[in-house]
Amino acid sequence: MTTPSPVTVRVPAKVNVRLAVGAARPDGFHDLANVFLAVSLFDEVTATPADALTVTCTGPDADQVPLDRTNLAARAAEVLAARHGIEPAVHLHIAKNIPVAGGMAGGSADGAAALLACDTLWGLDTPREELLALCAELGSDVPFSLAGGAALGTGRGELLTPVDAGTFHWVFAVADGGLSTPAVFREFDRLTEGTPIPEPEASPALLAALASGDPHALAATLANDLQPAALSLRPSLRATLDAGLDAGALAALVSGSGPTTAFLVADEEAAAKVAAALEASATCRTTRTATGPTPGATVLAP
Ligand code: ATP
Repeated sequence: MTTPSPVTVRVPAKVNVRLAVGAARPDGFHDLANVFLAVSLFDEVTATPADALTVTCTGPDADQVPLDRTNLAARAAEVLAARHGIEPAVHLHIAKNIPVAGGMAGGSADGAAALLACDTLWGLDTPREELLALCAELGSDVPFSLAGGAALGTGRGELLTPVDAGTFHWVFAVADGGLSTPAVFREFDRLTEGTPIPEPEASPALLAALASGDPHALAATLANDLQPAALSLRPSLRATLDAGLDAGALAALVSGSGPTTAFLVADEEAAAKVAAALEASATCRTTRTATGPTPGATVLAP
């Protein structure tokens, strides 16, 4: 029997153009209306046959990525193998470019990528619906990392409905250190205690702006209900948001639970200008430019 060739999957980061957060549920999760856009910042996960499950990682933030079974890529391999009653005998290498703990779903991306890479390596041909269900077991943002494009996520964010989107240009400012997503939700609970919280929903105006491809229309409707909580935990992000707006960004918001901040700009030229100004402002560690939507996890040709 010949050993199967390694399989590499490329997977995008996401930005939330609308993150509407409802009241905490009895199980502690929050109902969300989450409009995801996949953007062209990618991790690559390569699955290679091995005697046992191992993980390695390279990239600027590699030292912050766990290499044990808590890595979402490793968990994905275990969950898929268990479903099919086989051993997760695979080496997973993560070439990491998505900021770690930055609110851009980098871990979720690697989970979705590893699931698809192992499914292909092991020749399992798991139906798409089943892969999406396994993704939802791994985490709320993982199904979107597999699906990509633009989508409305409801429930904990894992129930996806694709939505139309034109192409938009973004700049991301990467902060020093991460923010824990559960800590940001706890801060949201603290800040909203005693105030009525409406049912989370994505407004028709936002969905229309997304479909139109008009960045000015989208800029007027972007919103993140977690932003006050992220700013409360990390007040210095205000200066980053202001620096991007001063440089001509059409809108600025915290990406997901932060601390990465996202700037919507009119075009590629504006992206370069805003990125340069942010770098010069010394209010962030580094910047990345990207466009979205972009496809979800994709097997690369060998
Ligand atoms: P989200 O936007 O989904 O809330 P995030 O982008 O803020 O997530 P991640 O980069 O996914 O955050 O990392 C959160 C934590 O998950 C990290 O601090 C790390 O300990 C753990 N983790 C597990 N697997 C991975 C992975 N493959 N890449 C990065 N972090 C991982």
